[in-house]
Amino acid sequence: MTKTRPARCSILDIYEWDIGPGWSQRTVDLHEILSHDSKEDGVTASPRPAICIIFASANIIRKCELCRGHFIDKFKMPKVWWSDYSKKSNGYFGCQRSRSPNGQESFDTWTYFEIKKLEPTAIYSWYKLNIFVRWDGESHQTVVLAFDTPYDIAQSFRDLLVAPDPRDLHSPFWFYPHLLSEVARHQEAAVWAIRNQVREVEKQTLPLGRPNPDYRNLHDIARHALHVSETLEVAVKTIKSMLDRHRDLWPSLSDFDAEQGIHSQLQFFESYISSLSSRSASNEKRMLNEIQLAFNTVAQHDASTSVKIGLATQADSLTMKSIALVTLTFLPPTFVSAIFSMSFFDNSTESGWVLSEKFWIYWVFAIPTTLFTVAAWYFLQKKYSAPAPLREEKFHALNISISPNQSFA
Ligand SMILES: [Zn+2]
Repeated sequence: MTKTRPARCSILDIYEWDIGPGWSQRTVDLHEILSHDSKEDGVTASPRPAICIIFASANIIRKCELCRGHFIDKFKMPKVWWSDYSKKSNGYFGCQRSRSPNGQESFDTWTYFEIKKLEPTAIYSWYKLNIFVRWDGESHQTVVLAFDTPYDIAQSFRDLLVAPDPRDLHSPFWFYPHLLSEVARHQEAAVWAIRNQVREVEKQTLPLGRPNPDYRNLHDIARHALHVSETLEVAVKTIKSMLDRHRDLWPSLSDFDAEQGIHSQLQFFESYISSLSSRSASNEKRMLNEIQLAFNTVAQHDASTSVKIGLATQADSLTMKSIALVTLTFLPPTFVSAIFSMSFFDNSTESGWVLSEKFWIYWVFAIPTTLFTVAAWYFLQKKYSAPAPLREEKFHALNISISPNQSFA
């Protein structure tokens, strides 16, 4: 299987199996087939083999009215399957039955699974299993349309079906246990990939200095965990719909034992994928716990630093108080000695201390300069210490918002 994602709408990779010849492969060009008028579907071989798996690209075919119309007409695919909302869905299962002119019932079933495949290097890709199965009740022949199937899953389909049991082909649901086996295998790998990344985070020890968690990486792992949980929950619902539909159809199907076997296998995969879903939910919670711990360790470290800064400030404040006390103690005597040392006082006369008549000059200079100094301090303080509302406006102008619960840690 070399081509699973044809580049052109009309290129189809076809794998066919029948009792005797076994598997064969061929590639066809649908546009070329459509140029010849044919009553058959033109794609499957004639006579039709027991199993025909056709790999095609729904994303490309969706844009080609000619190819899309052919799939709707010849394989009886519902038009809604090709709709935009069906394309954007994250999972579903559908079933319709039809009756041939001789009264034999045929079944068309279709399902869609999404799987997030994660690499250890944090690279990820989405696997989309988009399958349509047409089962002919008269001949028990099956056509499987596998759209946009990744290469390794396409390879696995053939490996799983190396030697199909012809009796299994009597059930219209025979292909689904094989499909669910692939879904389970890849979902398990995705869940364990998340678990390994979570475990790596859990094993990290605290650094000696300030913790500096890689929040982007932590949130990326949490996002992957959420996506894996979502795909698993949807897969479980899809399998439940499959089981419900199979249970409804069971009485009308011919081989009771074969149907019972298929039903048991479907139930097993429902149980298995439900368990994976629980493990994935646990991964999700463990990752959220680690993110919470990362926030708390940084906040705790910053709070400890703030306490140290507060204690240092308190020690500085005590020193400044001592200096201020000494300054205040010596300030009045300094002022008095400065006054008495002025030349307005004369103690050299015989009558003792004489105050100059010009002492008013001192007040003329002292009072205005004091008033000017106080006024200048008042206006400068008013100008440069803006009120609280004005500071908030500046924060808004700088696009900085502070919520009540937000810290700068
Ligand atoms: Zn086309």
